[in-house]
Amino acid sequence: MNFTIQSALIPVEQGYESVDVQIVDGQIVAIAPALEATGTVVDGHNKLLLPGFVNAHTHSSEMWQRGSISPLPLELWLAELYDFTPLDPEKVYLSGLGTAVETLLSGGTTIVDHLVLIPGQELETVEAAVRAYQEVGIQAFIGPLIQDQALITGMPTGGIPHDVPPYVRSTDDAISLLKDCIHRFHRPDQGISIMAAPTGSQLCSDQLFQGCAELSELHDLCRHSHLLETKAQKLLAQEKYGCSAVEHLQRLGFLGAKTSLAHCVWLDDTDIAILAETRSTVVHNPLSNLRLGSGIAPVLKYQAAGVNVAFGCDGASSNDSQDLLEVIKIGSILHNVTDFEYRHWITPRQAVEMAALGGATGLGLQHQTGSLEVGKQADLVLYDLTNLSLLPKTDPLGLLVLGRPTQVVDSVWVKGDRIVADGIVKTVNVEHLRRELFERSEWTVNRQSVTLPQFEPLYRRVMLGDREGIGD
Ligand SMILES: [Zn+2]
Repeated sequence: MNFTIQSALIPVEQGYESVDVQIVDGQIVAIAPALEATGTVVDGHNKLLLPGFVNAHTHSSEMWQRGSISPLPLELWLAELYDFTPLDPEKVYLSGLGTAVETLLSGGTTIVDHLVLIPGQELETVEAAVRAYQEVGIQAFIGPLIQDQALITGMPTGGIPHDVPPYVRSTDDAISLLKDCIHRFHRPDQGISIMAAPTGSQLCSDQLFQGCAELSELHDLCRHSHLLETKAQKLLAQEKYGCSAVEHLQRLGFLGAKTSLAHCVWLDDTDIAILAETRSTVVHNPLSNLRLGSGIAPVLKYQAAGVNVAFGCDGASSNDSQDLLEVIKIGSILHNVTDFEYRHWITPRQAVEMAALGGATGLGLQHQTGSLEVGKQADLVLYDLTNLSLLPKTDPLGLLVLGRPTQVVDSVWVKGDRIVADGIVKTVNVEHLRRELFERSEWTVNRQSVTLPQFEPLYRRVMLGDREGIGD
């Protein structure tokens, strides 16, 4: 269907301009004042039109545990997370719907789901997420979360080797699973792309990274991974490789212009230069990094070095939401406390560009989407500037990024399909989703993780120098 959005505000160099925008066959074909109306006319008066954002790193099924995990650092938080991860593909489908809906209603048109797989039902898990994203109509990049090492290997040893249990999946199994996913689900023209996405160097062998790099070359896939999220991972990389994880990934051929790396909190200047040289993208997940005490990613340094930066919500149990506007706000003002040179601070306009074009660039889509330009894919979001949370009238982008916008998304187009109109998601029944989420969950307090007490003494010994529980 074709559209003409009339008299919408768009940001231009010197402020804002009121324009009409024509969408024909999924593309933006004209942006100018007073265009001849074609297709469905949408009233853009007192509305702000922006390119859709990319939720550039999340784990959809974590929605089932949001609000429930204790204040713990990543390594211990993971132990608890995996003890209660959903094991029913139908739940994965529902959290996929929920994650997509929350992304859309906070300005996102593309999602990167680093998808936690149900052991023994891996393809069913991916199928469930694909079904959810296709029904919603959001553009999705699904990176099946593959690794070939047990969770305990993600922690530094502090000189005492871990007692490592075998992992459920071998390297070959992980690679062949990725091949199956590519074969069955990789359909970029239908809005679903599979990514080569090993969990991270803390839980994956070199062979797995190399296998993923080869498959991504062969099928032109995006690459995605966690990178140096915590201080423990930095120590572990030194133990394992004798160099930083960034240098190691460069040697393995994993970095590149279509590689996006979640977190990147513990990088030094040499690492940053490697990311710039390889044109890799950093995905900034500020809320998750605060929630898990991981640290503050040196985003201003990345920008100074010319490294592309995008925003991600990260999974909903380390956030504990999927609100992109909240992430963009925190993720831009957070750096004001790391650098007294206020001229480097991130402005609302820059933050919006990071979220849209920065996200698109990390997926190799910077020429197709991520900005308001004729010839680009119509991935667009229209915000209602008469909403109470965006009043009184001051600076629209300032209000959107620095304020606390509430239910401000009026319309969303993905590849020219209007999937949100008048604030309502048109493709799926959100009321039905609400009921399903309610009925398939229970209020949970004081649940007891089995793995957490096993990991805690090790974590305390290695990271805090604690001798608790290890005897004298
Ligand atoms: Zn993550």
